[in-house]
Amino acid sequence: MKPLVLLSADQVLLGQLQNAFARQEPELRVVLADDPAARDAEVAACWFPPAGSLARLPNLKLIHSVAAGVDHLSTDPEHAEVPVCRVVDPAHRQGMAEYVRWAVIHYHRDFDRAMEQQQRHAWLRHPQKAAAEYRVGVMGLGSLGGAIAAELAVAGYAVRGWARTAKQIEGVQTLSGGQGFAGFLDGLDLLVNLLPLTDATRGILCRQTFEALAPGAAVVNCGRGQHVQVDELIAAVESGRLRGALLDVFEKEPLPLDSRLWTTPGIIITPHMASAASHDCIAQQIAENARRLDRGQPLLNLVDTHLGY
Ligand code: NAP
Repeated sequence: MKPLVLLSADQVLLGQLQNAFARQEPELRVVLADDPAARDAEVAACWFPPAGSLARLPNLKLIHSVAAGVDHLSTDPEHAEVPVCRVVDPAHRQGMAEYVRWAVIHYHRDFDRAMEQQQRHAWLRHPQKAAAEYRVGVMGLGSLGGAIAAELAVAGYAVRGWARTAKQIEGVQTLSGGQGFAGFLDGLDLLVNLLPLTDATRGILCRQTFEALAPGAAVVNCGRGQHVQVDELIAAVESGRLRGALLDVFEKEPLPLDSRLWTTPGIIITPHMASAASHDCIAQQIAENARRLDRGQPLLNLVDTHLGY
């Protein structure tokens, strides 16, 4: 089999992935972009591939994201016809579910208020709302959002879900498409974003969206930073229209030191840690697709490049 090339500006990640391939797939030759053998590669495994790096691969037959998202792969007209795959790790789902569960309990059970009250030594008790009265909306019902919406429903929350196409998930009221969006948002206490970043979803967490939620609702963004209109989010939190926001992803990562998001009371920042596929799983899935490509078999976790996810 031809060598596989790893493309990323992140040197630490490159080292970790090389080690994982050596552990999991010792038969596969894995090279970096500066290795002369990279020119023979038919498969490129990428995380933010440096500009022009894909164009230097004349034999490229598969672009593989090392993550669940593919928005970090720059669109390159030269490779418009090359198939793109992504990693779908069941452990990813578990990690994301843990993160979202924490967020739901944090806001539903008023931990945000208790922590703020502690700063001013205030002893205030708020009426406890039953889970069944707490309306949680999950945007994006794919491999992550679909499982999380189902799990929150089992935990007793009043769950709504929204996707591009119609879905059926037990215990979840599902809506779809542009016509279903207003009904989905209407009066939610908590909105969780698990959409992929595409032209249709960029900037979707904006003033209009926040105003459709219940007054004092909270927003959790685990999708991508570019889903958020940052100035509108800060204004909504500062005005009290939103009680707060938990943000895991940002347009620029690491979040720049001078970003107002760091210091706006009510906004919680986490460093893109909601969930990550294990390096071993990434290596196994990419190697499996490389073998399938070699044998002319159907690829796993193929992305629809026209839809962008
Ligand atoms: P996925 O399986 O591709 O699911 C995407 C979901 O979004 C699908 O339900 C899809 O609807 C829906 N969708 C796409 N475009 C839409 C639109 N215009 N309107 C309404 N719904 C739309 O993706 P996934 O594996 O669940 O991952 C989702 C995203 O999570 C990733 O793209 C990535 O950005 C993010 N992520 C973040 C982290 C983190 O650590 N923060 C980790 C992993 C992933 P259909 O089902 O109808 O097509």
